[in-house]
Amino acid sequence: MLFQYNLYFIFLSLTAIISAIVAFGAWQRRKTSSVSKPFILMMLAIALYAMVAAMEAGAIALKDKIFWSKLEYLGSGSVITLFLIFAIHFTNKRPWLTSRNTVLLWIIPALNVAMVATNEWHNLIWHGFLPDPHKSNVVIYQHNIGFFWVMACIYVYTLAGILLLTKRALLPSILYRHQSCMVLAGALIPLLGASAYMLHLTPPGLNITPMSFMLTGLICAVNIFRFRMFDLVPVARDILIDSMSDGVLVLDVQNRILDINPAAQNLIGTTAHLIGQSAEQVLSKWQYNITYHEYECVNTEILIDSATLRYLELQITPLRDRRRQLTGYLLILRDITQRHQAEVELRQANERLRLQVLEIETLQAQLREQAMQDGLTGLFNRRYFDSSLQRELVRAAQESYPVAVILMDIDYFKKINDTFGHQAGDRVLQVFADLLRQYSRSTDIVCRYGGEEFVLALPGITLNNAFQRAEQIRLSFQAARVKFADKEINTTVSGGISVFPEQGKTSDELLQVADKALYIAKAYGRNCIKCIR
Ligand code: GH3
Ligand code: MG
Ligand code: MG
Repeated sequence: MLFQYNLYFIFLSLTAIISAIVAFGAWQRRKTSSVSKPFILMMLAIALYAMVAAMEAGAIALKDKIFWSKLEYLGSGSVITLFLIFAIHFTNKRPWLTSRNTVLLWIIPALNVAMVATNEWHNLIWHGFLPDPHKSNVVIYQHNIGFFWVMACIYVYTLAGILLLTKRALLPSILYRHQSCMVLAGALIPLLGASAYMLHLTPPGLNITPMSFMLTGLICAVNIFRFRMFDLVPVARDILIDSMSDGVLVLDVQNRILDINPAAQNLIGTTAHLIGQSAEQVLSKWQYNITYHEYECVNTEILIDSATLRYLELQITPLRDRRRQLTGYLLILRDITQRHQAEVELRQANERLRLQVLEIETLQAQLREQAMQDGLTGLFNRRYFDSSLQRELVRAAQESYPVAVILMDIDYFKKINDTFGHQAGDRVLQVFADLLRQYSRSTDIVCRYGGEEFVLALPGITLNNAFQRAEQIRLSFQAARVKFADKEINTTVSGGISVFPEQGKTSDELLQVADKALYIAKAYGRNCIKCIR
C-alpha cells in the first residue's frame, strides 16, 4: 500500500494515542464505577476511529482510501452507540438498557456499516470521488442520500446522549456538575466537527470529525484525572440520597428547588414534580416561616398538620462555592414524630412519678407526725417528749437557763370512764389538751405522756413560775365544764413539778422528781400542785 505520512496522519494518530491513554486511565479506575466500562469501550472506539482515519489520511491510492473510509464508519458507528450507552450509565438510567434495547441500539449503526461496506452495489453513501483540486492527498467524497441518513443517525444518537447529560448538568448535585459539563463539552465538539464537515465549512474533503476527538480525549483526561470522574461515582448520589430516610432538599439562592429526594417528597406529601418550584410555595401548607441564615446552620423543630400530626426536625445549611459565594441552601428533614411521642410519654411518666413521690413524701410526713403525735389530743407523744427534752437540756446546760417539768394526772379518771363511758373520758382528755395548748408558749413542749397523764417542759422557767403556771392550768380545768351527751362532767387535775438543773440533770431524773411530787399531790388529796424543795 502506497502511504504518505502527512500532518493529518500525525494529528489523527495523536488523537488515537490520547484516546487510548484515557481508556487506560479509566481502566485503572474501573473498579470504582460501573460507568467506566462503557466509557473505556467508547474511548477505545474513538482510538480505533482516529487510527483508521489516520490510515485514510495517509493512504494514497483511492481504493485504499475508500477501504479505510468504510472502516471509519465502523468506528463512528461504535463511538456514537457507546456514547449513548455511556450517557445512560452516567445519568443512572441503566434500567433502560435491557438486552433488547441494547441490541436495538446497535442495529442501526450495524446496518449503516453494512450499507457503507456495500456502497459499490448501490452508491447510496458515495456516488463519486473527486481528487483534491489543491493536489494534496485528499479525496472529495461525493455524498449521496445514505450519507445524510448516517449523519442523521449520528445526530440522533449524540443528541440523545447530550440531552441526558444536559439534564444531569442542570440538575442538583453541585458535586457532579463539573463532571457533567465536561462530558457535555467532550460530546459537543465532535458533533460540531461533523456539522462543519457536512455543511462544507471545512476545506474540501477534509473531515475534521475524527480529529475533533482529540479535544474530546483531552477533556475526558481532565475529567478523569482532575475531577476524578470515576472516583466520585455519580451513581452514589442516587443510591445515597434517594434511599435516605431523611428528606433532602437543595435550593438555589432564590429558594427554588434544585433537588429533592423521595423521602422529602413523602414528608411534603406530594408526588408532583417540584424541581424549579419555589420552596416557600411548596412548603407553605406547613404554615411555618422558614428562616434562612446566610452564614449559619439553622436547626428547628416544626409541627406539620398533614393527614396525621408530624414533628419534623429541619436543618438548613447555607451552601457556598469555592469563592465562598452563597449558592443555595441544603434542607434536611427528619421525621421525629416517634421520638417526640416517646419524649411526651416520658414527660408524662415523669410527671406521674413526681406526683407519686410527692404523695409518698406527704404520707411519710404524716407517718412521721403520727409517730410523734397522739392521735386523740393532737399533742406530741411520750417518744417525742423524751427526745426533745434531752435536746432542750443540752441547750439549757450550754446556755445556763432552767427548764421546768410539770407532770399532770387527771384525778379519778377511771371513775369518769366508768360513769359516763369511754367516749366521755376521751372528750375530757381533749378538753384538757386544749387547755394545755392555751397555756403554753411556742417554746414549751406539751405532751400526752400516756393514759390521762400529761407532761410539760418549760424552758427558761423557774420552779416558782412553773408552779404558778401549773396552778393556772389546774384552776382553769377545775372551772371547766366538759359537756358530753347532755351531761356536764366536772373534774380536777393534780401536778408535780421538777426543775433543771437543781432537781435533776437528765430527763429521767427530772421525771422521777416530778412523779414523786405528783404522788405527793395525789396523796395530799388531789386537785393540787406539789414540788419537792
Ligand atoms: P388517780 O386519781 O389516782 O389518778 O385515779 P385514776 O382513776 O385517774 O387512775 P387510774 O390509773 O386508776 O385510771 C386511769 C384510767 O384511765 C384507766 C384507763 O382505763 C383510763 N384511760 C387510759 N387511757 C385512756 C384513754 O385514752 N381514753 C379513756 N377514755 N380512758 C383512758
Ligand atoms: Mg394515772
Ligand atoms: Mg388519774
